Amino acid sequence: MTECIFCAIADGSSPAHIVYEDTDILGFLDIRPVRPGHTLLIPKKHAADLAELSPELGGKLFVAGQSIAAALRASSIAADGVNLLVNDGRAAFQSVFHSHLHVVPRHHGDKLTLARGLLTRRDNDMPATAAILRAQLEGPRR
Ligand code: 5GP
Ligand code: ZN
Repeated sequence: MTECIFCAIADGSSPAHIVYEDTDILGFLDIRPVRPGHTLLIPKKHAADLAELSPELGGKLFVAGQSIAAALRASSIAADGVNLLVNDGRAAFQSVFHSHLHVVPRHHGDKLTLARGLLTRRDNDMPATAAILRAQLEGPRR
């Protein structure tokens, strides 16, 4: 069994609420979301940090980030904005050493909700949130 939790999610041996998949990239809900819809995008192939991540895969991660951002806006999650974030290195609060892109939905005036979300980091219905995102990503472009 792999010691990397994100490799375990990528090879299906550990569960996650998957919202996006292509040949190289997997997207799933963060287990402790700062807001419902908070998604993590990973390269399926292990890369501990940005130094190990090929520019090609980095580009693909960003492109997937654009798709998730569009889905967060267009779906009933109704984001008004999105934060794309990479924590690279312990000093930057990287805690899982399989490089990943955070995609965090934002709403106008959500400063307090976000602050609360940073403390509670909970989504009461992750299966429903994942279903909303998956449907948006699979559905026709509007
Ligand atoms: P980092 O601080 O490394 O940028 O973020 C790691 C993120 O991974 C955190 O937001 C954390 O909640 C999330 N995370 C850690 N373990 C798991 C897990 O087993 N499953 C999922 N879905 N997310 C995880
Ligand atoms: Zn890994």
